[in-house]
Amino acid sequence: MTTDVSIVRCESYEIDLVRRAVEESIELIGGVERFVKRGERLLLKPNMLAAKEVSAAVTTNPAIVRAVAEIVKDAGGIPVIGDSPGMGSALKVGKKCGIFEVAEELAIEFTPLSTPVDVEASEGAIFKRLEIAKEALEVDGIINLPKFKTHAQMFLTMGVKNIFGCVPGKRKLQWHFSAGIDSTHFAGMILDLYLYLRPRLTIMDAIISLEGNGPMSGDPRQTNFIAASPEAIALDRVMIELVGRKVAEVPIIQNAEWRGIKAAKLENIKIRGAGIDDFWIKDFKVPPTLHTNFANSLPNFLEKRLRKSITSRPQIKQSQCTKCGLCIKVCPLDIINRIEGSIYINHTDCIRCFCCQEMCPWKAIDIKEGWLKKILPGL
Ligand code: SF4
Ligand code: SF4
Repeated sequence: MTTDVSIVRCESYEIDLVRRAVEESIELIGGVERFVKRGERLLLKPNMLAAKEVSAAVTTNPAIVRAVAEIVKDAGGIPVIGDSPGMGSALKVGKKCGIFEVAEELAIEFTPLSTPVDVEASEGAIFKRLEIAKEALEVDGIINLPKFKTHAQMFLTMGVKNIFGCVPGKRKLQWHFSAGIDSTHFAGMILDLYLYLRPRLTIMDAIISLEGNGPMSGDPRQTNFIAASPEAIALDRVMIELVGRKVAEVPIIQNAEWRGIKAAKLENIKIRGAGIDDFWIKDFKVPPTLHTNFANSLPNFLEKRLRKSITSRPQIKQSQCTKCGLCIKVCPLDIINRIEGSIYINHTDCIRCFCCQEMCPWKAIDIKEGWLKKILPGL
């Protein structure tokens, strides 16, 4: 059996155009009746990473959220908009990026995903127990609304990663801490969370995507489409193809492949609407690949020792740093310090979670390739 992924052209965030494109993307994968039943309360989960202007392309565009909320309402469902931003309150982020205004105008509930509850993970999960926002569990289903962006640690952030926003605020740092320097381990944890919450529909905002130093400091790039699928793993797999990258570079999808999840394989995906060739994103600027297939070619003990020399690391651009101190607050290991007024990272203990790079509001943290990877680029 194949999993459907639809791709529909949409070249601007003009409200009517977006509504038509979203409708078509849903129609191509079974129609709204497949995903919305009368009277159901459905959480619309956009990417609300941080309080940024819409033009920064860091958050899901409000036009997408509006279109989906209207479609759910028209089908008799009750949409609720919610997220747990990486930094700052959901309300503050929602107001800045225009999503709160959509909730107000359509008179729908806006709920921060902020109350942690402890749940037992599915069998085989890395964490035996997961802490998830109660608000994400108390709905009848989730409609996932990611933004297509690059991500220092996960290489690309797409449908599966967007569900990490259902872990309340600071609890996210604990996940990074538990995963340590192993991005594969962290990817596995995110996949566990996704499989537990299992959104029924994912609609990706790729009208303007974010390339380069994502997920917050990248450059907006017009990519002109909306993609949808009942299975975010399949949608993410198609996006990897669209930017001409390899599954081995995207730890979440690689992990899904390792687990034998069929939707992670292109041969099990049916693309509807446009084809991959119609939306090929040429030379999409990506961060340096973090993880390698080193473990397959070297003994475990050696691989562990060399990991830090291979893995890219965060680097503060002192000339751009405003000394705001936000990175100090978000570092799960407390290893960023202010010394004589300047900000420094203790790289020896750094686990390369890139929370600091993700949250720096001034684009002052770069990703520097590991020295060993630089001299041995084939790794
Ligand atoms: S968050 Fe960015 S600008 Fe602020 S202190 Fe850290 S590196 Fe500097
Ligand atoms: S310095 Fe940055 S990358 Fe290193 S552990 Fe702290 S937040 Fe993570």
